[in-house]
Amino acid sequence: MAERSHYPCAWCGEELGEPCASGAHDVCLFRMVVGSVAHLEHRCSCYLPGATETDAPGLTKREAAEATVIVWQRLLDSPPLSALDEC
Ligand SMILES: [Zn+2]
Ligand SMILES: [Zn+2]
Repeated sequence: MAERSHYPCAWCGEELGEPCASGAHDVCLFRMVVGSVAHLEHRCSCYLPGATETDAPGLTKREAAEATVIVWQRLLDSPPLSALDEC
């Protein structure tokens, strides 16, 4: 009878599963804060005028967000999610 609650992620739009104070997956929040993989690797228009590099084509927004976390960890060698609220 009760309709199943739906909590779409603010970034990727995929189901969160349960309400979350941040309104997005941890990886998606991280992606919103740090920018795309291209941005982290200085291949985006912030660093190269006219550059169109952004999230990798063929990835969902969530997959691209996960890729951002991996690149960030590689760059900084530190756990990036520790600063974010647990979902
Ligand atoms: Zn998400
Ligand atoms: Zn950028």
